[in-house]
Amino acid sequence: MPARDTFPHSACASAAPGLPDNQPDAQPHQSPPDAAPAPTAPRNRPAAPADTGQPRELPTAAFAEAFAQALLDWFAVHKRPLPWRFGYEPYSVWISEVMLQQTQMDRGVDYFLRWMTQFPDAASVAAASEDELLKAWEGLGYYSRVRNLHKAAKALVERHGGELPDDPDAIRALPGIGPYTAGAIAGIAFNRDVTCIDANVERVLSRVFDIDTPVRAQPAAARIRALAAALLPTGRARDFNQALMELGALVCRKKPQCASCPLSGLCESLRLGIPHERPVPGRKQPITPLDVATGVLVHGNRIFIQKRPDEGVWAGFWEFPGGCVEKDEVPDATIVREYAEETAFRIAVRDKLAVIRHGYTTYRVTLHCYLCALDGDVPEEPPVPPVLGAATEYRWVHFADLPRFTFPAGHRKLIDQLTTDLRFAPYR
Ligand code: SF4
Repeated sequence: MPARDTFPHSACASAAPGLPDNQPDAQPHQSPPDAAPAPTAPRNRPAAPADTGQPRELPTAAFAEAFAQALLDWFAVHKRPLPWRFGYEPYSVWISEVMLQQTQMDRGVDYFLRWMTQFPDAASVAAASEDELLKAWEGLGYYSRVRNLHKAAKALVERHGGELPDDPDAIRALPGIGPYTAGAIAGIAFNRDVTCIDANVERVLSRVFDIDTPVRAQPAAARIRALAAALLPTGRARDFNQALMELGALVCRKKPQCASCPLSGLCESLRLGIPHERPVPGRKQPITPLDVATGVLVHGNRIFIQKRPDEGVWAGFWEFPGGCVEKDEVPDATIVREYAEETAFRIAVRDKLAVIRHGYTTYRVTLHCYLCALDGDVPEEPPVPPVLGAATEYRWVHFADLPRFTFPAGHRKLIDQLTTDLRFAPYR
């Protein structure tokens, strides 16, 4: 399971003014239990095989067979015609799995189709620059994913001639490929008998087996792995893995639709009338409010942008300088200070352009956006270049050129707003 990016305080310490990308979490397992009324078991569903006295930790062979049959029959009828499901070409499966780990399906499909046109194979990813890859990924968030793709594609070209191996251990040995992605490639692309556990699978299994402890902590996490392995029918990993995930995405959702579930006759939490109490959420992390300021510095009809370092948060992204508002500081003073620290420019704040609010995993960020100009009597061409303190490159660009650069989500929102802001018309 990929780790979620978080908004680091160090981003403020290093004067990172952008907002982190907070894509909708496609894995809402941490959400509070639904307040919906408990559904009851519908009739005419496969019934749980008789208790054979086997310990409850793992299902009996008869149970596993009934489970897999009901699930696979349902999947054969209800599976969505997603583009990577036509042929299960390994590279396509890999890209789809990485893109969808933190992305809603509709959005993921659009990105997937564009990506496959631009980068049709691992060799094209390996040969691309990081700037090109970041631009293609812009808006998806969790940018460590695309950097890991880049690393893995280069290793694939070097070690395997650009083709994904079918051995789970060899896949796992590629840089940037974690256990979930390795399992998904091996199980779905190559139909190897391995499981892949995502939040959908956790939700379904925690409900069917009434797991009453947080699913991401032990002992529940290990039990879910063992259950998935015990339920997996030999030679059917491709369909079985996808069917479990698909059921979690379409039927056993946060608000489960038990009346139309193929597993209703096997589901312990449904029998107990408590599916809405499963999965048990883990401890919620507190949300920290954060005030950040950023300044759009204009000179003549050009705008100053700078490129962040190759390491750290939003590595390689372009941005308008800025940073966190310090204690007892007003945001427009933050801009003046940050410009001095990051560029050695003396600037004057001309106007407040926007306030953009953006949620993140553990932060609620308020981005104060200002229009700025160089202070003093400055000639048309800036005579003194910046002294970069938090960036590797800078540019003075026209507004129309901004879409060519990759920005953090907050700055992209700001650029979108400036497109129609009359106060900004002289600089467009
Ligand atoms: S698996 Fe989910 S949707 Fe199906 S019966 Fe159980 S709780 Fe309901």
